Amino acid sequence: MNNPVRCLACGSDKPFDLFSLGRIPPVNGFSASSNSDNALPLDVRVCVNCWLCQLKEVPDPEHLFRDYKHFSSASKGNLQHLESVANTLVPDTPVAGQPMALEIGCNDGSLMELLRKTGYDCIGVDPAVNMQKIHEEKGLSVVHDFFDERLAEDLLRSKGPFELIVALNVLAHFPTFMSAFKGIRALLAPRGILHLEVADATETLANGRFDTIYHEHVCNYTLTSIDAVLRLAGLRGIHAEKIDTQGGSLRVLAVRDDSDVEIRETYRTLLERDQTEGVNTKEFYLDVKAKTEASISNLTAAYADFCLDEAPVLLLGAPARGVVMCNSTGLRNISNLHCIDDTPAKHGCVIPGTEIPVGGWEVVKTTGANKAILLSWNYRESMLSRLAENGFTGQVLIPLPETEIVTI
Ligand SMILES: [Zn+2]
Repeated sequence: MNNPVRCLACGSDKPFDLFSLGRIPPVNGFSASSNSDNALPLDVRVCVNCWLCQLKEVPDPEHLFRDYKHFSSASKGNLQHLESVANTLVPDTPVAGQPMALEIGCNDGSLMELLRKTGYDCIGVDPAVNMQKIHEEKGLSVVHDFFDERLAEDLLRSKGPFELIVALNVLAHFPTFMSAFKGIRALLAPRGILHLEVADATETLANGRFDTIYHEHVCNYTLTSIDAVLRLAGLRGIHAEKIDTQGGSLRVLAVRDDSDVEIRETYRTLLERDQTEGVNTKEFYLDVKAKTEASISNLTAAYADFCLDEAPVLLLGAPARGVVMCNSTGLRNISNLHCIDDTPAKHGCVIPGTEIPVGGWEVVKTTGANKAILLSWNYRESMLSRLAENGFTGQVLIPLPETEIVTI
């Protein structure tokens, strides 16, 4: 664990402590045991200089990402999102030869395959060495390392500048993100575009949706704090939009600060909205703290009520957010819970920090449960359909964005 005193983005010595979700094991640390011995504090702080909300203590990324159990292709909802992203990235600027694209945090290469089809020569970077075989089978060119300025120098020498750099849900994930942004600056072609997507704290944290806080999310960005980070790295934002993925995300396009690509009205409008909502004030974050504490307490009570008769209850999905939910509310203390997840590598394991077993969809029949809690609430429609397809009838508690119970 690293316990940096200074802000990870701007280096200011002015971050203030906001709240703690207690101690939780790494959210992708699935094994047959609860892994509670590896629990780490999950404490959040905010810098009053650049307004970046960040973890107070930062785990070593080597422990989190070298053997990574989350696969992009495991979720149908995520694959659909990647297809929609690839459709927005069809090269429209003619360049000599084939345009070069770099994907940072390419996971199992699902997006790279799509980009390749749209005409890019695509390079990926991902530290997960367990994905190497998948990349080889797909014929993808991937560097299995962490992306930073040093790696960017190597890539610049070997592959030249990139017309497109894509980073989906990755630039919040490691403490050396500033070095990554500077590496992106070094690799972008003069009119090259960075397409990044991150969870949006003004949608998640500001609405009591605390389950995006986990050790892999070193940063909880707002557009205001992304803007500060981009500037510090010699980049500038040109477009921003809110998208639905991950329970509320930001899509930001950025270019080199010396690029002649024009800024769009979308970027200015969303930045101004942040100002109006007071995102750059301490009061905003004190409100986040109050909403988080209220949300945890309300959900703990809702779970206890829902599971009162001790009959078997299904937990749908064991994503990172589900692990946080189980550990930070009273869920982990409730007995007779059975989790269903699509990732085969998680089957036979328990949810980290708990004794809750994880299996496949056969668990609907083996338990005969007629109650379920939707941990993957960001894939609500597809998860509810699959539950019905697998023969479930009964009640489903949906914790967020608003707590409700639906009947199937
Ligand atoms: Zn700062």
